[in-house]
Amino acid sequence: MSADDELSLLVIILDTNPIWWGKRALGEAEQFTLSKCIDAVMVLGNSHLLMNRTNKLAVIASHTQESRFLYPGKRWAAADPFGEGGPSMESNCSGSKDGKYELLTAINDAIAEEIKDLMTKTEMKGQQTETLLAGSLAKALCSNVDINKMGKDLKANQEIKSRILVIKAAEDSALQYMNFMNVIFAAQKQSILIDACVLDSDSGLLQQACDITGGIYLKVPHMPSLLQYLLWVFLPDQEQRSQLVLPPPVHVDYRAACFCHRNLIEIGYVCSVCLSIFCNFSPICSTCETAFKISLPPVMKAKKKKLKVAA
Ligand SMILES: [Zn+2]
Ligand SMILES: [Zn+2]
Repeated sequence: MSADDELSLLVIILDTNPIWWGKRALGEAEQFTLSKCIDAVMVLGNSHLLMNRTNKLAVIASHTQESRFLYPGKRWAAADPFGEGGPSMESNCSGSKDGKYELLTAINDAIAEEIKDLMTKTEMKGQQTETLLAGSLAKALCSNVDINKMGKDLKANQEIKSRILVIKAAEDSALQYMNFMNVIFAAQKQSILIDACVLDSDSGLLQQACDITGGIYLKVPHMPSLLQYLLWVFLPDQEQRSQLVLPPPVHVDYRAACFCHRNLIEIGYVCSVCLSIFCNFSPICSTCETAFKISLPPVMKAKKKKLKVAA
C-alpha cells in the first residue's frame, strides 16, 4: 500500500482546565502558561500536516464545562471540515504575511480564535472544576467516525489511521471512571491509538488507555520543553516509532475505582451480573439491583455431628 492510500488523522486533545492553568500562571518558579502550551500544540499540528499531504488534523479543547473542536471549528468551512480546500473564500482568512504556508496560518488563527472565545465565555459557576476528558475522548472518536462516513473524500481502498494525543494538565477525575473506560474500549475496538502526554501528576486512567490501545504514555520531565517531547515522541506514527528509541513503557496502575465511593481499590467485591465494583459488601447491587443470596456459614448441627463422629 502506498503512502497516498492512507489517511493519517491526528486528534489532539488539550486540557484547558482554567483552574489548573490559572494556578500555573501565578506560580513564578516555572513560567509555563496555556498560551505557550497552545503554541507547542500548533507546531506539532503543523508538523503533522507537513509530513504528508494526506495527513489530517483535529484539535479539541477539553474544558470544565464543554469539549470543543478548536479545529476544524465553527469558523472553518462547515461543508468540508476535513477537506484539503481549507477555509472558504468568505472566511476571514488573512493569508500569509511571513511566507508561512497559508493553510497553516489559517489553522493557527482559527485555533487561537476558538480558544479565546472558549476562555472568555467560561463562567465559573457551580462546582464544575474537573476537565471533561472522557467526553473529549468520545468526541475524538466520533470525529473518526465522521471522517469515515465522508466517502467523497476517500478514494477506493483508501484507509484511515487515527490516533489521539491527550495533553493532560489537571488531576484525574474518578467520577469519570466508567465513561473513561468505555471510551478506551471503544477506541481499542476501532484500533485507534491513544497517546498521553502528562504535564503534571500521573494519570492512572491514561496509563491504562495507552497500555490497552498501544499508545505511548509520557510524563514530561520538564514542562517548558514540552515541544521537544511532542516532536520527538508523538509526531512519529506507529510504524515510524518501531525504528526509534523512545522512553520505556511505564508501570501501569491498573486499580479500578469502586462504584460506591470512587476510591481506587486493589481488592473489592464484583457484582456477578453487571461487573460493578464495590469496596464494601452490600446485599443488593446498586447498579443493576440484583439481590445476592448470602451463603451463611454451615449450620451448627452439622458441626455437632462431626464432633460426635470424631469423638
Ligand atoms: Zn466504595
Ligand atoms: Zn450488578
